[in-house]
Amino acid sequence: MSTAGFNSQNGTGQAYANGPSQNPVAPHQLPGIGYGSTPQPTYDPMQAKAAPPPGPPGPYPVCSYRPGAPFVSYPPPSGQSMLTRPMMGGPPSHTPPQSASPGPRPPPAQATPPPAVSSSSYYTNPQQAPAWQYNTAPPPTGAPTSISTPPRGPAPPHVNPTASSPGSSLSSTAYSPAAPPPHVSHGVTQPPGPGMHRTPLHGYPPPGSAPPSMAPHAYQPNRAPYGPPPTGPPPSMNPAPPMAHATPPPPKAEGSGPQAPSSFNHVDSRMGGPPQPGPPGRHLGGHYPSLPLGYQNAAPPPAAMHPAIQAATQPYTQAPQPYQQPLGGPGPAQLSPSLAAMSLQSSTPEALRVVNLLQERNLLPPIPIPPPTPCLQQDLQKINCNPEVFRSTLTSIPQTQSLLNKAKMPLGLLLHPFKDLSQLPVVTSSTIVRCRSCRTYINPFVSFLDQRRWKCNLCYRVNDVPEEFMYNPVSRSYGEPHKRPEVQNATIEFIAPSEYMLRPPQPAVYLFILDVSHNAVETGYLSVFCQSLLDNINALPGDSRTKIGFVTFDSTIHFYNLQEGLSQPQMLIVSDIDDIFLPTPDSLLVNLNECKELVQDLLKSLPTLFQKTMETQSALGSALQAAYKLLLPTGGRMSVFQTQLPNLGVGALQSREDPNQRASAKDVQHLSPATDFYKKLALDCSGQQVAVDLFLLSSQYCDLASLGCISRYSAGSVYYYPSYHHQHNPAQVECFQRDLKRYLTRKIGFEAVMRIRCSKGMSIHTFHGNFFVRSTDLLSLPNVNPDAGFAVQMSIEENLDDMQIVSFQAALLYTSSKGERRIRVHTLCLPVVNSLSDIFAGADVQAITGLLACMAVDRSATASLSDARDAMTNAAIDSLASYRQSVLSIQQPGLLAPACLRLFPLFILALLKQKAFRTGTSTRLDDRLFAMCQLKYQPLVYSMLMIHPALYRVDDLSDEGALNINERTVPQPRVLQLSVEKLSREAAFLMDAGTVMYLWVGRSCQPAFLTQVLGVSSYAAVPDNLHLLPELDTAESQRTRAFIGWLRDQRPFFPPLHVIRDESQLKPTFMQNMIEDRTESALSYYEFLLHLQQQISK
Ligand SMILES: [Zn+2]
Repeated sequence: MSTAGFNSQNGTGQAYANGPSQNPVAPHQLPGIGYGSTPQPTYDPMQAKAAPPPGPPGPYPVCSYRPGAPFVSYPPPSGQSMLTRPMMGGPPSHTPPQSASPGPRPPPAQATPPPAVSSSSYYTNPQQAPAWQYNTAPPPTGAPTSISTPPRGPAPPHVNPTASSPGSSLSSTAYSPAAPPPHVSHGVTQPPGPGMHRTPLHGYPPPGSAPPSMAPHAYQPNRAPYGPPPTGPPPSMNPAPPMAHATPPPPKAEGSGPQAPSSFNHVDSRMGGPPQPGPPGRHLGGHYPSLPLGYQNAAPPPAAMHPAIQAATQPYTQAPQPYQQPLGGPGPAQLSPSLAAMSLQSSTPEALRVVNLLQERNLLPPIPIPPPTPCLQQDLQKINCNPEVFRSTLTSIPQTQSLLNKAKMPLGLLLHPFKDLSQLPVVTSSTIVRCRSCRTYINPFVSFLDQRRWKCNLCYRVNDVPEEFMYNPVSRSYGEPHKRPEVQNATIEFIAPSEYMLRPPQPAVYLFILDVSHNAVETGYLSVFCQSLLDNINALPGDSRTKIGFVTFDSTIHFYNLQEGLSQPQMLIVSDIDDIFLPTPDSLLVNLNECKELVQDLLKSLPTLFQKTMETQSALGSALQAAYKLLLPTGGRMSVFQTQLPNLGVGALQSREDPNQRASAKDVQHLSPATDFYKKLALDCSGQQVAVDLFLLSSQYCDLASLGCISRYSAGSVYYYPSYHHQHNPAQVECFQRDLKRYLTRKIGFEAVMRIRCSKGMSIHTFHGNFFVRSTDLLSLPNVNPDAGFAVQMSIEENLDDMQIVSFQAALLYTSSKGERRIRVHTLCLPVVNSLSDIFAGADVQAITGLLACMAVDRSATASLSDARDAMTNAAIDSLASYRQSVLSIQQPGLLAPACLRLFPLFILALLKQKAFRTGTSTRLDDRLFAMCQLKYQPLVYSMLMIHPALYRVDDLSDEGALNINERTVPQPRVLQLSVEKLSREAAFLMDAGTVMYLWVGRSCQPAFLTQVLGVSSYAAVPDNLHLLPELDTAESQRTRAFIGWLRDQRPFFPPLHVIRDESQLKPTFMQNMIEDRTESALSYYEFLLHLQQQISK
């Protein structure tokens, strides 16, 4: 039992923490100083070496660029008739040259010395080792200093108590990363407000921030001019064709109407069912329903539909609700007296029903658990943010930090900010209305004092309603600002006016870096990759400016000249990997539309090009440096495919895993990176708006702890396919193919930043996910993708006693693949409570588990795995002990939990047995590291399945209670406990573990299932490695496939299916997920409960 301090900011130890304050690289490394950061080749003729070996045989003429002469003088090999023009010409005319940028380039993130946001005091109660003392408000040590540093993103007012009063707000305006000039009601032509004048003093603002006042309008997006409100009927709110979301309806002159330069459309990006009609208009401050408080708002789930899944899969109807806020009447922020009367203690809701865990065994609900509904007035809850997007561990916020400390539960938010939404309100407006003081975007939880004034729900400043906002583009009426879409939707997207741009929005740029060593060729991944890109090349998000490029590598780096006009691609080999340079910088990243044929030629040839290579070395580090140089001028996305441990040149790694130690070691070593090379490079990339996604396909140890840093700090994604082989592992191949299709075609946002604001008195102190923390509440995301989740830990710094509700707002500013600057804003509203029972009643056990998992990953790296495990166990002990001591009025024997936390011990036990944290079982280090990556990066709904898989019996599926989706009947079997007790030899069971599914077939399984679902005559005939169910024309086959397909459809990635028998290699993996059972090294659920009870009664 140790008492390691708590790290901050996604940190994994001092040298590798993401936290700027702990990052020795960040403050000291300026652009251009570090390796590989100069855009031009730093070619040194003195380093001439022997001529490189000839390139691999292939159809392309090879230009071997040898060190020893200026590279511009290298002639192509003689007889190269294919070159129709000089290779070293200037950039093609279609290439947007960097110099055309009107604004300064955003500086690299690492140049910023952001304020310290250390949360080392977080777990510092020495008496409680190693318990996690939740949310001990860290002294805002870092915040004040941040103002005096010369950064671009210092503390926002609510982080720095000294700046938190509305009066002192102007100083923060200039720092606001996504801040346009303070709002002025006169429209776009107004120069930036006074706050902007400070900007130049502090150097470059971050991307997405308001530009310096001298060039606010240098870039004008190609958008139709705004005009007066159009005539005619209001636009239909039906999510009709996904057209023209960026274009306001053609304006028509209308003499009498007010000028309203704004428009409002729905983007229907997905299936987009018709929006559900909003509730009838209601007035605030009315009566309360008679149902138990806190539950009256929970809409009953539609029959036979899993509510949790419904939220994830159904069209996200955020159609404007007719939320009628009487002008001059009380706004949400002023509902206090009535809300204050709400107390959960008078009537005991279901959430607080006392459960003796030692007696009640069947706690698992038959359907996935829906998130709890905050105890808010119906009016507010109806327009609150979708919990799939924005969710809190506690849906009732404690009034004080000391109250939170007593509850012993973590306070934090879980976000899925760029989630694919079937319906998203999009506003095009020349004026985005924001609080003058704290820069909060106007949202449904502000209050209107009258028609002309609104009060911010985060800092409580009263702001003017701009004239433009008086016009409602939805109803096309004037004088109802509270009916604007911004005030009716907790999730909304703005198309940003030009103040939000520093330079023209970057084009979509995709660079692929491919391992072509012998090992890579052996796996056969290259042909799958090339075919997948060929198939999807027209579906890559982008526009006419989209660029693409390729780099391959083994012991040397190979570039591909794809310049328009060449008759075929030209391979250029650079063998001096110690001093990498770009042979023809202008023709390696090319316009996709103009050079598509050459790109296709290359993709068709690549798989065979290296077929006979015997090169076993891997110079990944140099390839990444080269790729970084290539993307330096534009930013973009780097997709790296690696199949082995890099073993040559910079970033070379050595195997750190001893397979014999996997199961026996008391503690697991090497969870931290072996080198800071990949982190440093990632920070360089982040500073230049480059994200790196890593695809690791390997059967050997690759040191994901080190390699993963390249994605983690650049806001990339990590994909891992252990034992990938094109013949031996068909399930992996299918998974890789599906993942690639999703990866290549999913939405992408470039040069993004995300800021999370919260009501005055609260603060954020630790972030989890893949990003670089640029300042206390600002994340740098060179790319953002719809599958990325984030978590933040919060603390309460000032008493919230005069507040009834608090709000949280996440604003994601990004450049779409079409080159539009957009801002997606999510606002979550939660009640403030002053009793422990109310806090417990609002506990969201899944969100708590998800946040604890993130914290435990950090703890594993900064302290040790055993420390993290102890801390998780203590989390359950502490919260249940607090409940017993402080909430229960009558003491009774047993292990008691409120109903809302009844699954908490089970989920903690599941975490202890999860691949990321388990001990006593042979777990490959990379498998463990990847599980840790996923727990930090996946949205909660998917990580919960990884933690506690869902088990279903599937040999007796029936249509009873089935869903009907697109004329397909989808059976809905109940979720079973994860115990061998539940298995039966006569049956078949499906286990859905999120990223993978197992279909376990009992030895005496009914013959009907074998023949009609698996298409085999007997148990013995079930083939090994079966991963595809045959498409049989039987009702049983259709039901089974419909159910599995339906589960798969609910997530953006593809979980492979493994059919397993007793003899299967994967059977132990399946059995390890039987969390409730005892194993040699781990307690059963019942034993774990006894352990908890023992600790609590101590
Ligand atoms: Zn404000």
